[in-house]
Amino acid sequence: MSSTKSLRIGMIGFGPFAQFLAKTMIRQGHIITATSRSDYTHLCSQLGISFFRDASAFLESGNDVILLTTSILSLSQVIKALPLESLKQPTLFVDVLSVKEHPRDLMLQVLPHDSDVLCTHPMFGPESGKDGWKDLPLMFDKVRIRNEAACSDFLQVFATEGCKMMEMSCEEHDEFSARSQFLTHTVGRVLAEMEVEPTPIDTKGFQKLVQVKESTSRDSFDLFSGLFVHNRFAQQQLRNLELALASIKQRLESRSEELEQS
Ligand code: NAP
Repeated sequence: MSSTKSLRIGMIGFGPFAQFLAKTMIRQGHIITATSRSDYTHLCSQLGISFFRDASAFLESGNDVILLTTSILSLSQVIKALPLESLKQPTLFVDVLSVKEHPRDLMLQVLPHDSDVLCTHPMFGPESGKDGWKDLPLMFDKVRIRNEAACSDFLQVFATEGCKMMEMSCEEHDEFSARSQFLTHTVGRVLAEMEVEPTPIDTKGFQKLVQVKESTSRDSFDLFSGLFVHNRFAQQQLRNLELALASIKQRLESRSEELEQS
């Protein structure tokens, strides 16, 4: 593990995922500031974080990196409401949203041209990363980077923890994650809708299904909806799932009919 340079990291949105990231960043010696829709003054003071109710004061506070940690569905509204004229210097903006083309397009459209843009997706959360981030994937795309040193200092936050550093385009990410993360969350939500619960005779396979239901239901419905609404590849995966279920149902019913007639 190599050490990281101490950075001033400002977080916009201080929900569950931002709080989870902040703990590791503080342990690494970074200085964290935050702003959010709700008031997190008390929690932040316990964690040693300066919390700003006022977005101008937050932007004026001279962060090296501004981390967008708000929900997928609120990003457009949040980023467009930022008083960006309060920025004192060209700054590296990084997002951690679970979809990638959407924040990339918004950041390129709204942020000042002298700001660098790095898109990332830590492929883990408070549950899967609770015992450390070693070998967990961190996807990133250097969308508009002129200050390579600042970008590399930020990525070091994850590399130092042993994350698997995966550079790929936002488009590739969205295609892969529709097939993996969105599918997992959809199946988990379907299982929750069916009120699937452990039984006294669970097989190992069923225990894994219950785990999928529980881990996906812990994330907000906003997060799940965002995976669908702002990933152009998700619609096709939902259709594939419906078609696959219909096809399996059809095969089972045909087999039943054959057996009845024999
Ligand atoms: P989330 O429900 O996706 O987002 C919660 C955050 O969004 C809070 O900071 C909340 O602010 C803010 N927010 C929601 N609606 C808002 C609105 N209308 N206006 C302003 N702010 C609004 O939960 P999360 O798990 O913390 O995820 C945060 C981001 O990290 C998401 O983009 C998600 O895709 C990404 N991510 C999450 C995970 C994970 O495991 N949870 C992993 C990787 C990436 P307040 O709290 O102030 O209300």
